[in-house]
Amino acid sequence: MAEETIFSKIIRQEIPTELLYQDELVTAFRDISPQANTHILIIPNKLIPTVNDIEADDELAMGRLFTVAKTLAAQEGIAEDGFRLIMNCNRHGGQEVYHIHMHLVGGEPLGKMLSKS
Ligand code: AMP
Repeated sequence: MAEETIFSKIIRQEIPTELLYQDELVTAFRDISPQANTHILIIPNKLIPTVNDIEADDELAMGRLFTVAKTLAAQEGIAEDGFRLIMNCNRHGGQEVYHIHMHLVGGEPLGKMLSKS
């Protein structure tokens, strides 16, 4: 059984956050430390620690991450100019919270995709 992270508390609305969307599969909220003008996290309600742990049964929730990302990008007014969706995995990916999450970042030019700094 994977260990809960702070994101489980956000899903259960036990700690304050700017909640933007929630349904039976996913939850979306603003990142507490935004790396761009718009920085939203979209997460499955089920605790899946890393992309390595995704199972076939999770495909509906994984698809929902994308449809919610698309809808929120439109709501934020960043869809036309564009944005980036990022999911970090484990140490080399720079993952810090072990409950998978899709970063939706945009609202300004984002530069090159990868930085080694
Ligand atoms: P990652 O490095 O991909 O694991 O990203 C974790 C993200 O979670 C970072 O961008 C953090 O700023 C964000 N984060 C951590 N705690 C919170 C919180 N309580 N509310 C919102 N975002 C958070």
